[in-house]
This record gives sequence, structure tokens and C-alpha cells, in this order.
Amino acid sequence: MSRPIRLVAPVVLPCDPGCSVLRDAVVDIDENGRITHVGPRATAPAGSAPVRTLPGALLPGLVNTHAHTPMIVLRGMGGDLPLMRWLQEVMWPAEGRLRASDVRTAMTSGCIELLRTGCTTSVEMYFFTDAVIDAVSAVGSRVVLTPGIIAAPGWDRLGSWERMRDDVSARIDAAGLRSGPAERIELGYGPHAAYTLPPHALASVAEHARARGALMHIHVAETTEEDRAQRASHGSVPALLDEVGALGGRVLAAHGVHLSDDDIALLASRGAAVAHCPGSNAKLAAGIARVTALRRAGVRVGLGTDGPASGDDLDLWAETRLAGLLARVAAATPRRSPRRSCS
Ligand SMILES: [Zn+2]
Repeated sequence: MSRPIRLVAPVVLPCDPGCSVLRDAVVDIDENGRITHVGPRATAPAGSAPVRTLPGALLPGLVNTHAHTPMIVLRGMGGDLPLMRWLQEVMWPAEGRLRASDVRTAMTSGCIELLRTGCTTSVEMYFFTDAVIDAVSAVGSRVVLTPGIIAAPGWDRLGSWERMRDDVSARIDAAGLRSGPAERIELGYGPHAAYTLPPHALASVAEHARARGALMHIHVAETTEEDRAQRASHGSVPALLDEVGALGGRVLAAHGVHLSDDDIALLASRGAAVAHCPGSNAKLAAGIARVTALRRAGVRVGLGTDGPASGDDLDLWAETRLAGLLARVAAATPRRSPRRSCS
């Protein structure tokens, strides 16, 4: 319980389907922390709640759709390497030395950095689940936590991929998909990628996720080199995921840089979403995702920073600007694509 309050701002963006821009507007919040009214001040209902006047624009908290925020402590390491060498030679050995207490401290610091730039929710793929939950709970932000599930050199110190999968399932079965104050913690599954898990593992993890209505969050087609074998044997990573039945539930594909027209149509037909990470993709020279084509096909696209070790920071506003600029570069035109709804 908290005290009701009326927020007043020069600009309020409710982020409704029509992308409304309300000038000199109010947002009323009740004693349960729920929004009860949004609209122009001139037509707002009378009330006795204290008024707090804010500068600038007032809008919902941003959602970072792909992050490994605890990697904040690895920021800057191996910055000039391509993805696979960066992972195998620098990141995975460094992460092998992290303990739960390191992750708790790193996630706490990262949550504050996210909040500083307006991001109240992040979709995280990381390890040491309790440490991440502790940090988010302490800071007061929100997380969709998809603990990493991986079968790659060095990661067996945390157990087999089956054990990682079962740990998530056991947590959801015991406490539900969402838990904590105001259900600020949501659990899902984070199979790392098609190049770090065998096809039967992807199928199994997807089955566990689907059975529980949980999100499956996976790196997809970030670079051409990472999943060369999957492309050779299955045509593409989305085709492989579909072949093993992994695209049937709530699926969030991180990056999705190297997608053909068929891949995009497949993701659209299965209702999968894509987390677009332009900063990370640019730094690792992974390429420019086909965001305009994805949106035109009806695929839901969110923005992500990726881990702060590859993306350098956790600022979604910087990603927003970069996404717009790179879309123009990719289309070779400064004209924006036709306006779509905000939903
Ligand atoms: Zn990532």
C-alpha cells in the first residue's frame, strides 16, 4: 500500500495503440500503486491526492528485451574479437570465475544503471538464479529471468543442460511463473543458442516452457559463423527450431540478424518475437537486423542492449537512436517506413 498521487507532466505518452501524445496531462495512481486515470489536466476528474509536477515526458518504464546484465563486471573485455572467439577465449573463462555473490553485486549495480535510463524491466539470460532474483527484488525493478541453459566447454561446472532445465521447471512448478512483490519476477527458459545445445535439447526445453506457458528466450542467427553447422544441416536456425517443434510457444529470438524472407515468414507465422540489439550487433560486426522486414511481416520487435560486455552499456535510448539510424543505412534511404501502431 502507498499513498495516492497525481503526477502532472508537460507531455504524457500512454503508449497506447494510437501512439497518443498528451500535453499538460495527468496520471492518477491509487493507494495500491495502480494507474486509475490518464488524460489532459483540463478534463481530469477532481481529486484530493497530492500533486507532483514533473518536467519532461512521462511514459511507462522501458523494457530491455535482451540482456545479460550481470556481465557489467566484464565490460570492456575482449572488445575487438568476433563473437565466437570473444565467447570462447574471453567471456566464458571469465564467467567461469564468477560466484553467486559476484552476480548479486553485478546485477544490483546493473539494475540501478537500467533504472537511471528509464528501464524498469529487463529480460535476462544469466546464471545464479537466486542471486539475480535477490538483486532485482532489492532494487525494486522487474525481470523476466530466463536462466541460461547451455552445453558448452566449461559450463558443466553448473551441471548438465537437463539439470539447468529442470531447475527452472521445479521453480515454476513450486512458485508459479510470477512471484515476489507485485509479481515483479517472471521465470522463463534461456536455452543459449542452437550452436551450444543439441537439437533434442532445444526440443525438450521448448516442451518444458510450452507446458508451463513460459517464455523461451534464445539467441538466433546472431552471426553467420556461429551456426554454420545448423544452417548446413537445416537451412537456417529458425528452420531448425521449427523442425524440432521449438517455435510453438512463447518464443523470444534474440538478435535475429541473419534471417531470410522464409525465416521471417516462419517467425511471423509462429508468433515469435525478436529482440533487436543494434549496438551489440554493431560492436561485434554481426550485421544489421532486417527490422523493417520483420515489422512489415507482423513480427513483434523489441529493443535490447545485450550484455554490457558486448553492448558496452544498458541505455535503451541509445539503442533506440541507433536502431533508427541503422534501419536507414540498411534501406539506403533517409525516409522512415510507414507509421505503425505502438502495440
Ligand atoms: Zn545475448
